[in-house]
Amino acid sequence: MRIEDQFVFYGKKCVKEGMTTSFFGNISFLQGDLLYITASGAMLDDLGRNDILQLNIKKESPAEKRASSELCVHRKIYERTSFKSVIHTHSLYTVILSKYKSQLSFQLSEVLPFLENIPVVEGRSGSMQLAENVATAAEKSTLVVVKEHGVFAQAPSLKEAYVRISALEYISKKTVLEQIYYRG
Ligand SMILES: [Zn+2]
Repeated sequence: MRIEDQFVFYGKKCVKEGMTTSFFGNISFLQGDLLYITASGAMLDDLGRNDILQLNIKKESPAEKRASSELCVHRKIYERTSFKSVIHTHSLYTVILSKYKSQLSFQLSEVLPFLENIPVVEGRSGSMQLAENVATAAEKSTLVVVKEHGVFAQAPSLKEAYVRISALEYISKKTVLEQIYYRG
């Protein structure tokens, strides 16, 4: 699948499966020095060709003004790690679950090792401090939760990033609902 088509495909899935509302969240992919990233204000479930920008990872360009406000976080992750894909969502249940935690850990099985020891970091949206905190955590974990905000999933491919961020929201939702259901 072409990169643009993958953006459209996974953007739709993220919204459809409730991991983010249409106007929040962003997707990027690195190919050599070429960074594909969704535009600011783009609707993730209705991405058109003009919503997927192409930037140089190493140089500033005028197109950056149209890029997602989280561009600095994506850039920093690529600088610090060898991952080629990043998906960022505002996953509601994961955000609720991580509110008072410094890490999330789900001991499911060896099948999903990326759900063990997921760091929870803080930082203002779009800030260099957030970029620094997420990228540092991304060196050790393919999933990083930002407190009161959302999740960054980084992986070799968009498919793998999607699988991880989707699995995390599923288990967070299950945990939150079980806590409500069995509380009494
Ligand atoms: Zn965000």
